Amino acid sequence: MSRSVLVTGGNRGIGLAIAHAFAEAGDKVAITYRSGEPPQELVELGCLPVRCDITESEQVEQAYKEIEEKHGKVEVLVANAGITRDQLLLRMSDEDFAAVLDTNLTGTFRVAKRAARGMLRAKAGRIVLISSVVGMMGAAGQANYAASKAGLVGFARSLARELGSRGITCNVVSPGWVDTDMARAVSEERRAEVMANVPLGRYAQPEEVAGVVRFLTSDAAAYITGAVIPVDGGLGMGH
Ligand code: NDP
Repeated sequence: MSRSVLVTGGNRGIGLAIAHAFAEAGDKVAITYRSGEPPQELVELGCLPVRCDITESEQVEQAYKEIEEKHGKVEVLVANAGITRDQLLLRMSDEDFAAVLDTNLTGTFRVAKRAARGMLRAKAGRIVLISSVVGMMGAAGQANYAASKAGLVGFARSLARELGSRGITCNVVSPGWVDTDMARAVSEERRAEVMANVPLGRYAQPEEVAGVVRFLTSDAAAYITGAVIPVDGGLGMGH
């Protein structure tokens, strides 16, 4: 059965791999992108690119209207869009803290709230939020990012409780180090330091995160909600 799927930040990195996985499985996939051109490979697969900055409620509303017109109500939401603005605490500006929270946590609230409207009516739906191992472990220089990613866990578990009786599941996928632009922005020194603590001793490929996201939206995962699933090569030891 072909479902209406929305992946935020589906134009590159982990989101792109997630969009691919759903599109290749035959779902109707919409992705958001903020600027530039949407990836041609997704357009060729029949995906619907929608320009949307998730820090703007009005843009989120417009994006949903377009998706609903073309694909019907969103049945699967993958809230993946996220940013980092790393800095040590005493050097972290109010703006850097607020921008990360506004994108990673409040942006997820905006898209999940809008998706829930249709899902509640349909009495079915799957929501997957992309957090990070850093949300549970913390990381020096990432207080804003870690706070936003930990916040997603409380948010998801609240939705799991609030929406569960209407057949909607809400889960969190918590990647460790994934080979994308975000991870590549980190210094060589920091990368080596981090890898020393990853039992599997390597980065994840975005497709490895996508596979777990797809599983959580499959019939096999119908009884899983409020869970945090690590995809981190053992870095967080299950947390
Ligand atoms: P990238 O930096 O490669 O991509 C981030 C995506 O988010 C882009 O598509 C970007 O769009 C989008 N985005 C950012 N801000 C907004 C916004 N305001 N509105 C709409 N879209 C936005 O990151 P990754 O693919 O690596 O990360 C994806 C998710 O996975 C993030 O939530 C990240 O925190 C999480 N994660 C990543 C890890 C990693 O090691 N890479 C590890 C753990 C978690 P645009 O192209 O327009 O900028």
